[in-house]
Amino acid sequence: APATVDELAALLAAHPQARIVAGATDVALWVTKGLRDLGTVIFVGDIAELRRIEESEAGLTIGAAVRYAEAHRALAALHPDLGELVRRIGGLQVRNAATIGGNIANGSPIGDGPPALIAMDATLTLAGADGRRTIALADYFLDYGRQDRRSGEFVESIFVPRPHASDVIHIAKLSRRFDSDISAVCGAVRLRVADGAIVAARVAFGGMAATPRRAAACEAALTGQPFAEATITRAADALAGDFTPLTDVRGSAAYRRQAAASVLWRMWHRAAGRDVSVRDVEAIGA
Ligand SMILES: Cc1cc2nc3c(=O)[nH]c(=O)nc-3n(C[C@H](O)[C@H](O)[C@H](O)COP(=O)(O)OP(=O)(O)OC[C@H]3O[C@@H](n4cnc5c(N)ncnc54)[C@H](O)[C@@H]3O)c2cc1C
Repeated sequence: APATVDELAALLAAHPQARIVAGATDVALWVTKGLRDLGTVIFVGDIAELRRIEESEAGLTIGAAVRYAEAHRALAALHPDLGELVRRIGGLQVRNAATIGGNIANGSPIGDGPPALIAMDATLTLAGADGRRTIALADYFLDYGRQDRRSGEFVESIFVPRPHASDVIHIAKLSRRFDSDISAVCGAVRLRVADGAIVAARVAFGGMAATPRRAAACEAALTGQPFAEATITRAADALAGDFTPLTDVRGSAAYRRQAAASVLWRMWHRAAGRDVSVRDVEAIGA
């Protein structure tokens, strides 16, 4: 249990096979459900440098070992949808232990933090005995179970740029149960709109591919176009070229395709002032 980042780097250099443990909300299941032997573990929760949140004009820097409950307020201040997303991660007990670094490092295709943070253009700083490097979060996820983390490296922090006032942002977690459930689809859209035109588009999804990923064809269909219903129709259609989702217990491929398109439509309707509460059951008064 190192107390500093330098100690962690030295320990990882000496034990490159060691398993980093933060909140253990993923790792512990490998033991209790998978009956795996973790071997050497390095606990990062005592490292004050990894537990800091720094707010600036430019955005938020969140240490990898910051727990979701601790980052909730700062993320909600950046954009209310980020706050609502955090409220949908696990239950309170999980959010009190689960770290943002663990959510990213775990590399799950259905982790909820990554799609939203990718859409915000977040960057990831990785550190190790050889120094540190910063990459776009979107580039961290290489393939299923494979991330851009070199031997001896650890996730040090994540930087989330402050969105512009004109950014249209919509983040939606779609799961069978409202609380403490795994996403079927988690989508995030951020459009920069100027004079009625979309000058930049970021669209990212979890649950649609082997990794959390940007939707390149959808983004291309939005960029440079009027912020208008016809553009959203084309962008929603373009999603078919971006993803070939799986059918599993959380949803069929057809459901996932439709749910992903609905994230764009929710964004559009909300921008027009209509209610798109994810608790539709309340909206219809049931
Ligand atoms: C009941 C329950 C509900 C859940 N609900 C959700 C949910 O709604 N949404 C969601 O996204 N997830 C959910 N999870 C999954 C989990 O809580 C998150 O992925 C969490 O953020 C993982 O963080 P952790 O600190 O617990 O990671 P750990 O379990 O400690 O580690 C996870 C992985 O990340 C690695 N790691 C951790 N920190 C670092 C670091 N600094 N550098 C490099 N590697 C590192 C570990 O080695 C391991 O591979 C749930 C889990 C449970 C048990």
